[in-house]
Amino acid sequence: MGGAPLLRLARVTKAYGHLVAVRDLSLDIPANEFFALLGPSGCGKTTLMRLIAGFETPDDGRIYLDGQDITDLPPHLRPINMMFQSYALFPHMSVAHNIAFGLKQEGRPHQEITARVEDMLRLVQMSGLGDRRPDQLSGGQRQRVALARALIKRPKLLLLDEPLAALDRKLRHDTQFELMQAQRETGTSFVVVTHDQDEAMVMAHRMAVMRAGAIDQIGAPREVYEEPATRHVAGFVGETNFFEGRVIQYMPGGVEIETGKGLRLEALCREHPAIGSKVTISIRPENLRLSVPGIFSKNGSAGEILDHVFREGLSSFRIKLETGDLVHVRKSVGEGGAQHKRGERVFVSFAPEHARALVK
Ligand code: ATP
Repeated sequence: MGGAPLLRLARVTKAYGHLVAVRDLSLDIPANEFFALLGPSGCGKTTLMRLIAGFETPDDGRIYLDGQDITDLPPHLRPINMMFQSYALFPHMSVAHNIAFGLKQEGRPHQEITARVEDMLRLVQMSGLGDRRPDQLSGGQRQRVALARALIKRPKLLLLDEPLAALDRKLRHDTQFELMQAQRETGTSFVVVTHDQDEAMVMAHRMAVMRAGAIDQIGAPREVYEEPATRHVAGFVGETNFFEGRVIQYMPGGVEIETGKGLRLEALCREHPAIGSKVTISIRPENLRLSVPGIFSKNGSAGEILDHVFREGLSSFRIKLETGDLVHVRKSVGEGGAQHKRGERVFVSFAPEHARALVK
């Protein structure tokens, strides 16, 4: 491959009339990657997938696979497969025939088809179920047949549009791990569209958070969670607390802001906003500290605990600050999560290095 990414989108734009669904978007995806596309409804995720698959043609920009320009190549000539949200299986065909379909169309020898179907059944943990019809399967099993059918032609890239949307919560959780295993074992790059940020955090090597046809941030899930580039990303990926204010001075690697309610807060900042300009500090619930109000208290505010919920080993507090702001704080039992009670007065603060001041 000579270092070229498996897939490259170079400044791709696609509009429907006046509506620009994908705007000047560039993206590289290497081989053997599990990549998730994340974003609110209507931000252009499906359009981007359809452009990659070849069901749509960009108005501008080029698409490359393995260094070859595929922008004008029809879908069936691209070594790319797409698994749609409604992965309609052929109801009258057995599981094995459903999986074999693509290879049969290619006119592959019978023996090869049988062997590859067996491989696929093994991959999706359905060996021995090849003779069943789709209506004799559970929802999760049907999803796995669809995955096997999409992978049997050994595409270089598999696009999956909300692959787990039809499954209930528990099954989604288990199936996430199966998808990850299938990706690892085949070495095919997966691009998964989801609007479920938890799903993307669990499965993806890297993820892109989209907004209004463009990508706000690309990175490893942990990086995106800990170092959000924009307010949209901070709010979309995981839970967070926001404090809006104006920059009053620069600190090493960051800024100090003053909120309209007289609170002074310091946070790291990647950019260099002008003094007096508006920024938003994002601080995750687990990075807020609770202490007894005192004269040395800084970078925070006193407040009162409104609610306390204990779930899965974590205490979640909703606290009303003296400024009127409501914040969420999360603590494990080991961090003193069991000590605080509803109605208690506490000081809520954070270390500047745990918070991000966001300009956009
Ligand atoms: P969702 O999560 O709801 O599926 P999405 O992020 O996949 O949303 P897209 O389906 O890509 O979003 O749509 C992006 C924008 O383009 C939306 O405003 C949508 O209404 C518009 N759009 C998509 N397809 C067409 C089309 N064929 N004709 C006109 N507008 C379209």
